[in-house]
Amino acid sequence: MIEKFLNPWIRELVPYSSARSEFSGVADVFLDANESWESYRPNLNRYPDPKARALRLEIEKRLGFSFSMTGIGNGSDEIIDLLIRMFASPHEDSIMIERPTYGTYSVFARTQDVAVIDVPLTKDLDLDVISMEKIIEEKEPKLTFICSPNNPTGRVYSIEKIERLAALEKGIIVVDEAYADFSENFCSAYSLIGKHENIVVLRTLSKAYGAAGARIGMLIGSEEVIKVFEKTKPPYNVSLLSEEAGLGALRDEHVKKRIEDVRKRRKEFSSFLESLDYVREVFPSEANFVLFRTSDAKSLYAYLLGKGIVVRDRSSEPMLENTIRVTIGSQEEMERLKKEMRGYGK
Ligand code: PMP
Repeated sequence: MIEKFLNPWIRELVPYSSARSEFSGVADVFLDANESWESYRPNLNRYPDPKARALRLEIEKRLGFSFSMTGIGNGSDEIIDLLIRMFASPHEDSIMIERPTYGTYSVFARTQDVAVIDVPLTKDLDLDVISMEKIIEEKEPKLTFICSPNNPTGRVYSIEKIERLAALEKGIIVVDEAYADFSENFCSAYSLIGKHENIVVLRTLSKAYGAAGARIGMLIGSEEVIKVFEKTKPPYNVSLLSEEAGLGALRDEHVKKRIEDVRKRRKEFSSFLESLDYVREVFPSEANFVLFRTSDAKSLYAYLLGKGIVVRDRSSEPMLENTIRVTIGSQEEMERLKKEMRGYGK
């Protein structure tokens, strides 16, 4: 079914055939890829596995996303860019996003001259699924990006709403679950992939797995989507060092504890915010950050910066006047932030 949504030139694309992907079998002399025979670090002289097999097998084992249904990107940002390249024609097609949401969907679309249709969230920051259905019917955006839990609001959307959009079968629904690990009782859109071939899910090792520096993003979708992704992506988009770091992050036993800590501190910090007289509203969050509305975001931002603490002013986003987003950090960092916030305006 996804065939009909693909750009025609991607449908016809003959993938680059790298030296390493042409070889299979047993050998111990590799003179096929114009590499060096040595390096200061073991294996660094060799190109990495274009299919990142070791990492995908570990993802299957640890996270339960099956091998043939995963693709790896240089961060999920690269996957977002590639999905737009795969499905949306420059100067012709559009993508749909909820507003406010994560910023790169629209930036990557614009770099390819793909139009962006913004759909404001409802007053309580939920998906306006009725408007979205209408736009899908009328304008057929090639891709709809749903970020759940949403950045910067922290809100999770119901799986039923997401399924309603997919069931129209008029385009690809991309569900970005970068912050899913921090949500309690999360219901992943992964469960819908078998039912709707036009759903894909994004995950990342940048958040709960503590490996933002490694740049490992995961695309999870039907085998058909993954086949097209594999031929469209740069052949060696995941470096040897990143793959190793990704394996380490997946095997890190500390991740569970870190997620628990984030949930606990998120709750504590939200209650703390509620107790401050200059805080107007604290948005319930299922991610590793908390968004709140304050009397004057610019002034609070500048004040905290003066104390050496950087937070994110989200006030320029529609519906988010005077809001600040704070990432949940270590206990010490949160204590220092709370201490400085208590002193604000005094
Ligand atoms: N999706 C969302 C919703 C994000 O907030 C971010 C990063 N802030 C990303 C994707 C990008 O993640 P990655 O580091 O995997 O590129």
